[in-house]
Amino acid sequence: MSTGESCPKCAAATISKRSAEPWCPACEWNLDHFEKERRPEIGWRWVDRRLFRTAYWLTERQFAELRDAPSLARAATAARIATTAVSVVLLALVAALFVAGVVLLVHDFFTPINLIGALLVLIAVVLRPRLGRLSALTRDAEELDRGRAPALFAVIDRVAAAAGTPVPDVVLLSADFNASTTTVGVRRRRVLTLGAQLWSVLDPQERVALLGHELGHFVNGDIRRGLVTQAAGSTLGAVAYLLRPDGRRTRTGGLLGMIAEALLDLLAGTLARLVGLLHLLLLWISRRDSQRAEYLADELAAKVAGSAAAIRLSDTSLLYDAIDTVVRREARAGNGAAAWSAAGRQAQTGLAGDIPALRQLSRRTEASLFASHPPAGLRAGLLAARAAQPAAVIVTEAEQARMDEELGAHYERVRRELATAHW
Ligand SMILES: [Zn+2]
Ligand SMILES: [Zn+2]
Repeated sequence: MSTGESCPKCAAATISKRSAEPWCPACEWNLDHFEKERRPEIGWRWVDRRLFRTAYWLTERQFAELRDAPSLARAATAARIATTAVSVVLLALVAALFVAGVVLLVHDFFTPINLIGALLVLIAVVLRPRLGRLSALTRDAEELDRGRAPALFAVIDRVAAAAGTPVPDVVLLSADFNASTTTVGVRRRRVLTLGAQLWSVLDPQERVALLGHELGHFVNGDIRRGLVTQAAGSTLGAVAYLLRPDGRRTRTGGLLGMIAEALLDLLAGTLARLVGLLHLLLLWISRRDSQRAEYLADELAAKVAGSAAAIRLSDTSLLYDAIDTVVRREARAGNGAAAWSAAGRQAQTGLAGDIPALRQLSRRTEASLFASHPPAGLRAGLLAARAAQPAAVIVTEAEQARMDEELGAHYERVRRELATAHW
């Protein structure tokens, strides 16, 4: 861990983790280093390095602002206003396309103009906003039944009441090492997905913190879940897809046809690049707002579970590799959730000393303009920096055991899934 070298700025011993370039734990010299092994984001190294620097700076600046802010409550940030404005314009354009198409379609039937109208209507239909579907989520997760898991749903209800959030309409259990919430369909049904791998290794208060954070997404004004912005995001993706120049060759023949096609390709290619850039810009801007929403969800987690449990939950993600490995090992050995939890705890205890360094390193490895979440180290840092909160909801070991008992059959399904996965 220690590199045997000292910091050029403050002379403290530098450290490293995994294969990371060394940094100084005392003055954070070289923590903003651009790693050679970093996963390419755009593909051009100099661009990626520039983007990393920007992301690192923006992420650290946002953290500093929120650390000193009197409240993390949702605000009309520039990011939110810009994203919403672009989204509204985009949806209005699609609607205009549809209306123009219908007008041309019924105008003076039957002339070639009608064909253009039909084409416009078709494009508008392809670009129509999508609101997500429950069926897409239940492919990899099973719905939990309130009648069969009363203890779990009782805890969810208590957390929702304490956090001041709505109760999810649907609760799903997946095999993943995470949890998420989303809102789907025209009826805007609220869906909470719990990943069994993560859920099983958490202690009672960490589970409360996880629920507090996830349900917090229903009220933290997360831009990804807004009706207008969610719709616009799917539309932009479809535009970029439609404009891709490849695969449209019709080979009508003749020099004129070839010139026309080349011109069309050039036009579509340029448009595709412009739309792609707009998509990227919108994504980068909205990600800033998403990260802010994550901090706010963390604060709700602390409010219901207590700050200490919320910090422990955040640190769990730093030990993902170690916990994932031992849980899969237990699953392959035929052992159930109790064994996963015990092995996960053991791994966490063994690595507890690494947490401060891993928190620091996460600020380098997780800083990205594409990241929807702030680095785990900053999330724990913000929880620790703000006023410590006591737990509003306390789950006992007995309740914890009852929740696990209710999920027994689901855990067994997940166990088989984990045991047969090829990694
Ligand atoms: Zn130093
Ligand atoms: Zn979140």
